[in-house]
Amino acid sequence: MAQTREAVRESGLAEARKRELAEKVYAGQRLTGPDGIDLYRSDDLAWLGRLAHHVRTGRNRDRVMFNVNRHLNLTNVCSAACAYCSFQRKPGERAAYTMRVEEAVAKAAEMRDEQLTELHIVNGLHPTLPWKYYPRVLRELKAALPEVSLKAFTATEIHWFEKISGLGADEILDELIDAGLESLTGGGAEIFDWEVRQHIVDHDTHWEDWSRIHRLAHGKGMRTPATMLYGHVEEPRHRVDHVLRLRELQDETGGFVVFIPLRYQHDFHDSADGVVRNRLQARTTMASPAESLKTFAVSRLLLDNVPHVKCFWVMHGLSVAQLSLNFGVDDLDGSVAEYKITHDADSYGTPSTMHREDLLKLIQDAGFRPVERNTRYEVVREYDPPPSQAQRRGEPQPVDF
Ligand code: SF4
Repeated sequence: MAQTREAVRESGLAEARKRELAEKVYAGQRLTGPDGIDLYRSDDLAWLGRLAHHVRTGRNRDRVMFNVNRHLNLTNVCSAACAYCSFQRKPGERAAYTMRVEEAVAKAAEMRDEQLTELHIVNGLHPTLPWKYYPRVLRELKAALPEVSLKAFTATEIHWFEKISGLGADEILDELIDAGLESLTGGGAEIFDWEVRQHIVDHDTHWEDWSRIHRLAHGKGMRTPATMLYGHVEEPRHRVDHVLRLRELQDETGGFVVFIPLRYQHDFHDSADGVVRNRLQARTTMASPAESLKTFAVSRLLLDNVPHVKCFWVMHGLSVAQLSLNFGVDDLDGSVAEYKITHDADSYGTPSTMHREDLLKLIQDAGFRPVERNTRYEVVREYDPPPSQAQRRGEPQPVDF
């Protein structure tokens, strides 16, 4: 039955509470967990966007960062079977693959002409590949593409390397850095709260190890991303808890450079062998675009100590990616090819590859100034703002309903 306008109003957030929250944001005060939960209770998207845009423009003006990168997955063979993952295969299964070192280098070298600045490398937890394979791949990739930054491995993979090598993360990171590693990836975070995590994650890397490994990486001078997988069985309080754990760790280390809310994806195409690996999709609906925009906005408002919030456009489609720039986002990730971890393709026609020119146009058409960055978020090149001054968004955008 359709809700009446009054019922909708009652289920939202009281005006007095909205005023209180807005005052805190405009005064630059740190928001609390209950503040975050109340922000999620509001369905006033324009209001949330206005608050997040105020914070986003205060930090990053009209700039939108992007980089020219490619994804490389060395193996899809994995000892785990996380409930949201359609990428993993068991040894010997159809479509299971593991690249030889030479294959990985040849694949990366194919991308040499694209003025690539970053390779993003994440993989399954292969049960029998020796630990030494991984630094060897990095060394060979770096020798073949010395100008390309290597952003590789989730904290879950580093924890796995500890198990297969008998070494500690400290030594592992040192060897990987020596082989050319510039940054870890932000994956493996999903939702930290055990109430949810136990239902979606099928390995034993949880908050304690995830945070231990990122803390170690930060201590070695790395600036790392952090992610959150939302839109499955979690509730807003789990998202708030997730972000506040990261905020606390960031207060301690200052090493997180960007936060990336990742929208949980259903599979839109049957796998070639007919096996349903993504087991969550039978009992979930994917987060709507409105829920995604809300998640970007609340994340930007709560995470007052992380410089950037990213929309990984592959998971949202290009229109939502453009809209997200008015909801706290200031980074659209990269040109990305062959993104495979949570889905192989979607049904909304989102391309899996964008070139530098496509990203420039996407950002300028949304009214922002594109800035190409490297893995450490240093500026590679500033581009022109959109041609019309009226299209620019250097100030909080006046959106009033
Ligand atoms: S998400 Fe990663 S660890 Fe989990 S099953 Fe997929 S590849 Fe393996």
